[in-house]
Amino acid sequence: MTDDLTGRLKAEARRLGFDGVGIAPAVAPPGYPRFLEWLDAGRSAGMGYMHQHAEARANPDRVLESVRSVVMVSAVYGRRTDPTSPGGTRGKVARYAQGSDYHESLWKRLESLLAWLQDECPGARGRAIADTAPLLERDFARLAGLGWIGKNTMLIDRKLGSFTVLGALLVDVELVIDEPQMAGHCGTCTRCLDACPTDAFAGPYQLDARRCISYWTIEHKGAIPEEFADRLEDWAFGCDVCQDVCPWNRKAPEGRQPELDPRPEWVNPDLIDWLSRDPDEFRKSLKGTALSRSKRAGLLRNAALILGRRGSTEAVPVLIDRLDDADPTVRASAAWALARIGTAEAILALEGRRGRGGDVVPDDVEGAFGGVQPPDVDGETPAGSDRRV
Ligand code: SF4
Repeated sequence: MTDDLTGRLKAEARRLGFDGVGIAPAVAPPGYPRFLEWLDAGRSAGMGYMHQHAEARANPDRVLESVRSVVMVSAVYGRRTDPTSPGGTRGKVARYAQGSDYHESLWKRLESLLAWLQDECPGARGRAIADTAPLLERDFARLAGLGWIGKNTMLIDRKLGSFTVLGALLVDVELVIDEPQMAGHCGTCTRCLDACPTDAFAGPYQLDARRCISYWTIEHKGAIPEEFADRLEDWAFGCDVCQDVCPWNRKAPEGRQPELDPRPEWVNPDLIDWLSRDPDEFRKSLKGTALSRSKRAGLLRNAALILGRRGSTEAVPVLIDRLDDADPTVRASAAWALARIGTAEAILALEGRRGRGGDVVPDDVEGAFGGVQPPDVDGETPAGSDRRV
């Protein structure tokens, strides 16, 4: 009966659109001590919520009392994207954020799976989790046989690759558990570690969020410190480098869920367009997307830093406009970018605001100069202020 029920539950999960499904035992996850070490080492950066709910991750019964089985599901998302730089005034958005926010569709499918189980087993209790409760999903996915955790810390399946979202259904029903995937298949490969633009891996399987572009562009609020402001490369939201280079993603399938398909406006967005948009209209356009996590201020900050690093002279007028933005992070980032671009127009605009009083941004402007003297107003960028990389 249980064998049969487990088989039919898996078939139902696939019918609902999941690409991978496996059953893990409801045990303390073996990766929990390592997770605590990661937190203790400060590698979660400013993600305080990781600390707040750390204990709840020790055992799934903290999330659902009397849980007996953890149904893990995975779904490939999006389309293969061009890993090269879009150049010009365009930026890049991580593949998972190019379509609609996956959380809602994932959660609804999990709820449907739970409803199916409750039809089969009246009285069964369960809880669907799509990043909505503290659970070490990758650890349970590995226990459920859905893949191994690669050196880039992502869950990798031989066929599906790593561009997958993971969800969990905790149930108080005894199901047949799958063989865990104990062995990894990274071998001697270190492509992800070598390719990371900010050296965010302290070693294999050890991501330090304090150096991760995804952390800075998505999770961090406020201005980005100089060391990383200058190193976002093309990434306006998130980063896929450690997955793009992984050989296991070369032949992986593309996503089957239409709502997660990329929307053209989010694939390689024009960053000048972002900086020019009416604030309310721009905020509205973020609704229902993962980009809303960064909010307008974070996205415009990232856009300004990328354009500044590139020395984009076309962006100067809109960056000057943003010096008067209502948001201090946007103002500071625009000032930083103008100082980096360093044309006479950019420097004049910064000079014009220096020490003008409380209605402008004197602190931001001072910070943006970083101690470098501005050029003569009629001169081109002097060698001393050209800090482009
Ligand atoms: Fe493993 Fe290589 Fe993929 Fe990194 S790039 S996760 S080392 S297979």
